[in-house]
Formats: sequence, structure tokens, C-alpha cells
Amino acid sequence: MFVKNTVLTIALLICAQMVQAQQPADEWCGTKGQSPWLDWYFAHRDSLKAQRGADTTWLYVPMTMHMVGNDAGAGYFPVNQAMRAICEMNEKYVPARIQFYLVPGEPFVYHNNSSWYEHDFDGGSEMINANRLPNRVNNFVVADPAGNCGYSWQDAVVMGRSCSAAGNSTWSHELGHHLSLPHPFYGWEGFDWDYSQPAPTEIYGYPVEKMDGSNCYNSGDRFCDTRPDYLNYRWSCNGNLESTLLLHDPNDSTFRADATLYMGYAVDDCTGRFSPEQIEAMRTNLYTEHSDYLQISDPLAGIPDNISTELVSPIDTQLVQFDNVTMTFNAPPNGSIYQLEVGLFENFVPTIYTKSVYNPDDAVVSIHIDKIMPNNRKLYWRVLVYNEWDVCLPPTSLPVGVFKTQNLSGTTWLERNLQFELMPNPIAAGTKATLMVSASTTLDGRLVVLDLAGRTCLSFPLELSAGDQQLEIPTEQLCAGSYILMLQSDKGTLTKRLVVGQ
Ligand SMILES: [Zn+2]
Repeated sequence: MFVKNTVLTIALLICAQMVQAQQPADEWCGTKGQSPWLDWYFAHRDSLKAQRGADTTWLYVPMTMHMVGNDAGAGYFPVNQAMRAICEMNEKYVPARIQFYLVPGEPFVYHNNSSWYEHDFDGGSEMINANRLPNRVNNFVVADPAGNCGYSWQDAVVMGRSCSAAGNSTWSHELGHHLSLPHPFYGWEGFDWDYSQPAPTEIYGYPVEKMDGSNCYNSGDRFCDTRPDYLNYRWSCNGNLESTLLLHDPNDSTFRADATLYMGYAVDDCTGRFSPEQIEAMRTNLYTEHSDYLQISDPLAGIPDNISTELVSPIDTQLVQFDNVTMTFNAPPNGSIYQLEVGLFENFVPTIYTKSVYNPDDAVVSIHIDKIMPNNRKLYWRVLVYNEWDVCLPPTSLPVGVFKTQNLSGTTWLERNLQFELMPNPIAAGTKATLMVSASTTLDGRLVVLDLAGRTCLSFPLELSAGDQQLEIPTEQLCAGSYILMLQSDKGTLTKRLVVGQ
């Protein structure tokens, strides 16, 4: 153990120097260097394998997500996005029988620091060393990880928000680095080369991998079941999931790089696997260098997929005071991580409010919305439920609550019975505005548009039926400027401001 720790300390220093010395060529992955643990691994690989025998165990890896925002506490990676990213990563790690889960009690840690939120490598080093927690993967999500999509360094991984969307393989790639895997094109990072020429036999003293397999254990990523790869930039693949570019090895044998490996630089659509030797290395890394991660041998309890969150209030188009809204729901069994979402429409695009809650005290959870909701609107809400282990949403659709906002103090009959919203607003000159109206009863009246001098620009009769309806308002004749839109009836008048742009 003592020897191993010493080696690791030196390794981290070397790795730090390598990362800082070389800026990435394409700014996709900032990980440089090779884990010195690999030297130890290749020296003992056969005995380790013989010792372990057939190894079909599932390995469960704890992780804390460090959500980094700016000094004002804005810009955190949303909790539902983080859960989706871990869920997708777990799918990619199924063939390796490795699964990631969040540390109970510390699934998320929030940091407000602009120089970490958008950092250079010095800022990244400071961030990692000030916050790294023991016995887990420390996964930081920031806006700008030193100009990269992500990197693995100093026994932590750092991801960029913009490279963490659905379908992105950055997280799986960086966790691969964290568990010892180099790029299959290792040695070529940041190296300019005319690929129409036979590759050199060495780059900076490191041997270049040949097609005949003669040096596959001491060149490239040092795995023999990943073929040579020299491509150090993001590339698209052909229909055979290989590089379109024909590469020449040092013996001038031609080949195409394998686009299927998560650890290469082929675009996400081409990738889909770790090789068996890569998987064996990652698992051995977990048994040795990162054995402190292996704390549980059985899955934790998940949330039953057939039980959904019961929304208590407001539901069924209940009227609520627009600037004082509280959502209440019954937490399902084993739930611990909740994200409340409020949307303008049933599909929650756009979502106008989100709030996350971890481990509330009660099974009946109430969340007060600390933001003023749009007045006179029908709004939709739902709750995404997870726990530290169960990071994927159930395949079934989630229950959706509907409510209407209103100023309940001192409202008129018309305000209580009719909500309307102009979309879009402001609007470009010459396009049609849509008036979305929700009426609780039939109503006859008139729609009038006045300019700010009080002149009538548009006026037409309205016949509203009970329920939701959309009315088109022609704005072709309106010059750029502000207008007052009035909905008049014998029950009163409602007004809205309409802005016509250039
Ligand atoms: Zn990488």
C-alpha cells in the first residue's frame, strides 16, 4: 500500500504538469498523460486476472456531483439534467458491470465561485483541491472547464455544462479516464501530422502503434484489442463506424480508425463501447487504486416504476394567487431527490420555474415558489422523483397538475372568469399575434387596440365560448411601438400591453 500511494503521488504531479504544458488540440477532452497505475497494472495483469478468476460481480461506484455556479449562485447544472446524464452513463457501463450512484447524504454539493465556474487549469486545480471529498468520484459540472468539454485530473472529473446534454458521451469518456483508460490515440494529443504520410515510429520518444500488433502493449493506449488510432480531433465516421480518413502506420500499412470506442474522439453517434481489455482495466482499477469506492455489494432500494407521485394541490385548474404559490405532493416510497417544474404548456417547453429538494422531512412535501408567476395564466406543474440509486425517470408519463393564477385580492368578475395572454409579445411587425383565452363562461364583447395617443387602431367583436381558445390578431397595419389591447364586455374591461417591434 505504501509503495502504491507513493507512486500515485508522483503520478499526480506528472499528470498535472502534462495537462498544464499541453493545450488540447480540439478542445474536446482536456485529459492528458497516462495513469502510472497502468504501469503497475500491466506488470501484474496476468497474476491479477488469475487471482480473481471469473469475475461477474457488479461494481457500484459512489459519486458526489459538485454543482458549480457563479458568485451570484446562478448557472448550476440542473438536477434533472445531472440525473439524466448519470442514467445514460450507467447504460453505457452495463457491459462493464459498473454502475454509478449518488452518495446518500451528499448527492449534490453546491459552490458559488465565478473563477471555478469558468476556469483555466489553475482555477480547476484550486477548485478540485478545495472541495474533493474522500471515497467517491468527485464530479464537478461547470460552464467552462479550461476550454474543454471535460477532463479527468487530480483524481476528480470536471464536465462542461454544454457537453452534458442528452446523447453526449463526454461523461462516460471522462469516467473512463478516471478509471485509468488513455485515449486510443495516446501520444498523438496536440501533435500535428500530415496523415497522408506513413506515421513516425515514435512521437516524443513514445512508440506509435502498428497495424501488425507487434507493439500494441507498449504503444497507443497499450490495449491490444483497440486498433491503432492517430486522430486527435473530433471526427465523423463512415457507415462502417470507421474513420473516413485512411491512416498509414509506420510500416505504411493503411487502416481506418475504430469509431466505436467511447475513449476515442469520434462523434457521439459513432461510439458505443468499451473494449474487453478496457473493461478489465477499469474493473481492476476499481479493485485496487479505487478500492475505497467499493462500499456496497448490492443495489440500494429503487423507486417502484408503477407508483407515481400523487399531486395534492393545486390541481384541476384551481385558482391560486399569482405571487404566492405553494405546491404540495405525496412523495412515493424511497424517493429522496425531487425536482419541481412549472411550465407554460403541458409539454413543459418552456419550463418557467424549477426547484430541487433533497430528503424533505415529511412524506407530504410542500414547495413554495420563490418567484412571481405570470398573472391570469393557466400553468402546469409536475415533480420528477429520483433517489441516490434510482437516477433514471420511469418510462411512464408523469402526472401533471394544472392551475390558474390570478390576483385574488380585489379582482373583478371578469378577471375571475377570464384569463388571457398574448403570444408572442413583443411581436415582429407584420406577423400575427395570438391571444390565448381561457373563459369559464360564454361572453360577448369587443377587442380594441389603441395606440398610446388613445387612437383606435383595431376593433372587432368577440364571441367567446367557455374553455380555452386562440384568437389571431392581425398586426400588419400597426407601426412599431407600444399599444394597449382592451378586452371589453358589459362585465368590465381587461387590458394588456402589446409591443410591436421593427
Ligand atoms: Zn479524453
